[in-house]
Amino acid sequence: MIATLDGLAARGVDSCQPNDVEAMRQAAFDTTPIKEIAVVGPDGQTLCTDLGLPLGQRNIVASEPLAGANWYSLDVIQLENGQPMVRLRRKVGAGPNGVAALVPAMLFLPQVSSHGSPFNAYAHIATTNGTTIGNIGTLPEAAETAFVANAKSEKFGFNAEISMPRGRVIAGHGELQWLGLFATGAMVMILGTFSMLMPRGTPGNPVTEIESALKAGEFVPYYQPIVDIRSGQLRGAEVLVRWRKADGTLVLPGAFITLAESSGLIREMTRDLMRRVCAEAGRAVGARPALKISFNFAGKLFSDETIVQDVRKIFSGSPIKFSQVVLEVTERDPIENFTATRQTIAAFQGLGVRIAIDDVGTGHSGLSYMLKLGVDIIKIDKIFVDAIGIDRNSTTIVETLVDLAHNMRMDVVAEGVENFEQVMYLRELGIRSAQGYVFAPPLPGKAFLQLVEALDPLPVAGAAPKTELAGAQADAQASVQASAA
Ligand code: C2E
Ligand code: CA
Ligand code: CA
Repeated sequence: MIATLDGLAARGVDSCQPNDVEAMRQAAFDTTPIKEIAVVGPDGQTLCTDLGLPLGQRNIVASEPLAGANWYSLDVIQLENGQPMVRLRRKVGAGPNGVAALVPAMLFLPQVSSHGSPFNAYAHIATTNGTTIGNIGTLPEAAETAFVANAKSEKFGFNAEISMPRGRVIAGHGELQWLGLFATGAMVMILGTFSMLMPRGTPGNPVTEIESALKAGEFVPYYQPIVDIRSGQLRGAEVLVRWRKADGTLVLPGAFITLAESSGLIREMTRDLMRRVCAEAGRAVGARPALKISFNFAGKLFSDETIVQDVRKIFSGSPIKFSQVVLEVTERDPIENFTATRQTIAAFQGLGVRIAIDDVGTGHSGLSYMLKLGVDIIKIDKIFVDAIGIDRNSTTIVETLVDLAHNMRMDVVAEGVENFEQVMYLRELGIRSAQGYVFAPPLPGKAFLQLVEALDPLPVAGAAPKTELAGAQADAQASVQASAA
């Protein structure tokens, strides 16, 4: 949000003129979690929005300066329909107006338990001054002994707290597993967002910049968990690249992937990312053969078969088995050489690597054309998941895609899942795997590995003493298996 608002401020966007509104519209489109961008007056009143219309009457519940960010204030807002939103507001130049971006407060909170039922603990997020950003669930009674987990952002003062009555954990619901997921997930999302506040360097030649960043090892993997929405178990993760600059700034792939592709640097970047994942997560993933790790592969990487040897070399020296590797090719990239691409895909499949089509439903190639490549998995794009319950046509498209995938014995993964209704609906359709902020945002390596340990603990050699918690976990596991059976 901050990167986006800084971009608008740098362009002097502070009016309701058509040019400014168009710039806001583009910015809101490029930054998916943002629901609305507005020009606001000195008291925070909305003057106009990227959509032309505001999302409705809004009530500013609280407003405070954002610690560590001179130009910013943070508002907690209630929409007419009661939905709580977080708004970041930035001054633009010396004028009275500013720009503001809205995201649902719910994105900061866990919605789903480890069994795929609604979240069953209590979670609360507050600002430095103690203003509630959001909460979910019911606070355990004072008399009950509860597990409490707390995390505070030293830099920005946000505070996240989760609690759950001890009885509920012992009963084997396994929600405790999600506490860790939420605590790390939400905090990482907040810290990740705010680390973009760091000052930026002066831009030089962008391709040279990417090249030296690659040499300096500044492209690092983040991991977004993929979850089994029937059992609540972790199925793996998608690796999403982040550019972590020397000054701590975190840059999202939207800002550099296109250039990396057109300059040819994408091949080395992708290889480097795979090596880093092997070094960082190899042991944990290798020890759990059911976990799969997906990498985004630019379409043109498939037109040269020598990439198969690269991938073979990287993973043959790692505990990660080929059968745990998934390569995602996006439907958005036009396929330059169909025959070569198909051969490369077949060669990967010969190793045991699986291929997914990404962003299904949004590309220009046409799905039937893509399916001729012989892929194993389709990933349903966020725009269809967003439309669930809103747009009948999109819902029909999802149903059709799922039927098609099942007939062709392909797996389906739903992307960009943000709320519990979507989880319910996807489950009804028979979709097994999903990823999205409702479970966790992309996490840095350390947080992802903690999550893997918490959700999928390895059996300890020898007779480990059975603690209450381990017992609860075993119970939870048993009940998952029973319900699956
Ligand atoms: P993608 O492959 O479709 O990845 C999913 C994007 O959706 C990610 O954005 C992720 O952070 C975001 N996302 C996940 N869950 C949610 C949700 O619940 N709601 C919303 N609103 N968004 C969600 P990100 O990380 O910015 O990546 C953007 C794109 O950049 C990726 O889209 C992918 O096409 C590309 N990319 C990322 N890493 C690589 C890479 O290593 N190589 C290549 N070639 N492309 C990459
Ligand atoms: Ca992807
Ligand atoms: Ca995608």
